[in-house]
Amino acid sequence: MYLSKILRSPRTLAFRLTLWYAFIFTLTSLGAFLLFNFLITSGLRERTDQALLAEVSELSSHLALKGLDVVELDIVQDAESSGVDRMFLRVLSLDGEELVSSNMTSWTNVAIKKAASDRLTNGESHVFETLAIPQLPHKVRILYGVIGPGKLVQIGRSLEDDELFMEAFRDRFVLMMTALIIFGGLIGWFMARRALQGVEEVAQTAEDISKGAIERRVPFKARGAEIDRLATTFNDMLDRIHALICGMREISDNIAHDLRSPLTRIRGVAEMTLTSGKSVGEYESMAANTIEECDRLLEMIETMLAISELEAGAGNLAVEEVDMAEVVEDACELFQPLAEDKSITIVTEVATSSLVNGDTQRLQRLVANLLDNAIKYTESEGTIKVSLDGDASQVLLFVEDTGDGISGDDLANIFERFYRCDPSRSKTGVGLGLSLVMAIARSHGGEVAVTSYPGKGSTFTVSLPR
Ligand code: ADP
Repeated sequence: MYLSKILRSPRTLAFRLTLWYAFIFTLTSLGAFLLFNFLITSGLRERTDQALLAEVSELSSHLALKGLDVVELDIVQDAESSGVDRMFLRVLSLDGEELVSSNMTSWTNVAIKKAASDRLTNGESHVFETLAIPQLPHKVRILYGVIGPGKLVQIGRSLEDDELFMEAFRDRFVLMMTALIIFGGLIGWFMARRALQGVEEVAQTAEDISKGAIERRVPFKARGAEIDRLATTFNDMLDRIHALICGMREISDNIAHDLRSPLTRIRGVAEMTLTSGKSVGEYESMAANTIEECDRLLEMIETMLAISELEAGAGNLAVEEVDMAEVVEDACELFQPLAEDKSITIVTEVATSSLVNGDTQRLQRLVANLLDNAIKYTESEGTIKVSLDGDASQVLLFVEDTGDGISGDDLANIFERFYRCDPSRSKTGVGLGLSLVMAIARSHGGEVAVTSYPGKGSTFTVSLPR
């Protein structure tokens, strides 16, 4: 497990991020090192050059005041006080001939450059050069300068101190940077892993769910807004999928239940007729029964398909201008005989015209379903009122009855597929009528609302945008 994690590491985002951190950190350190190196080297060089120039000006004033003998003493003393293997001075004539010098034992390889003395005679005040002399372990900074009429000086100073200082600086810098890069890499690895831990958890949860743990959710910890948003969105998505799966499971359970009852009935009647019935009349009655049950099944399947199509937006509405007043009046006329059978009075209150853009057949079905329910769930002698109202933006359809009413618990569920309130189990129906009403209303950009008082009646309100 641990080994596979390590083998997987080079392909992980955390590893790549760490490499990037380390790379950028190394580049920055290298840049800082080069800059410091340059600044310190040029600072040291400047200091050395200033000291050499000061020496030239001192010798120049001594020559003017006290003569060459005193200058000779000066240069011997100066070289000795700095160390004869670290510094030399010599006075030269304009054509490069050595007049006096300090101890030159360590400096036998240092030549007098004709080009430098030429430049001085041509008016330059001083000439600097840096030499690497084969026998000497360190470079030498040389200054040629004019100290008097016809007299030049060549001063050489070993850059040993500066070079040792720079070496120590480089060693320490490299050591420190190596430690910092390793430390930075570790911190980067830790930070990247921490930042991506949330993603890892989301992936782990998805993996667990794919293995069957559908109840799993990403635990909420404050890990930064982006990761928290990912976790919350992922959990919301899972909740929705879970609700959908549960809904589908419930629907399939209901379908199984609602298909089984009529099929069992059909089979029972057929079996009974086969075993006991002998007359043509009994066979006829069995056939009629079978046709009736099959019609119910077909209607149920057809309604389910219609709902699914509308909900998926695949219902292809045949949109045209529809006068809802006409639709309502036609439906009431159609249901009048059914209502009369139960001594129910249907009252219609519709304005002359209530136009909407919609699918006539589906809107007719919507009104018919609501009227059918109102008649079905209203006791005899009751009243059903169907009215239309609205404004410039929408048409409102009210179907009001004085029937059984719906309890508060049921109200929240009556638009679910196959949901039927308990008392209505005695009445025919499969619990798809209101789902279809809602699907039709929503496919037209509308909504359905219901208010109900158990024992007193219900009012269904459909709003349809014009
Ligand atoms: P059903 O086929 O059972 O009528 P519906 O989807 O049309 O299915 O209605 C769902 C449930 O809502 C019904 O079982 C019934 O209990 C309740 N219901 C619908 N309309 C009314 C109404 N007008 N009055 C009382 N209850 C109603």
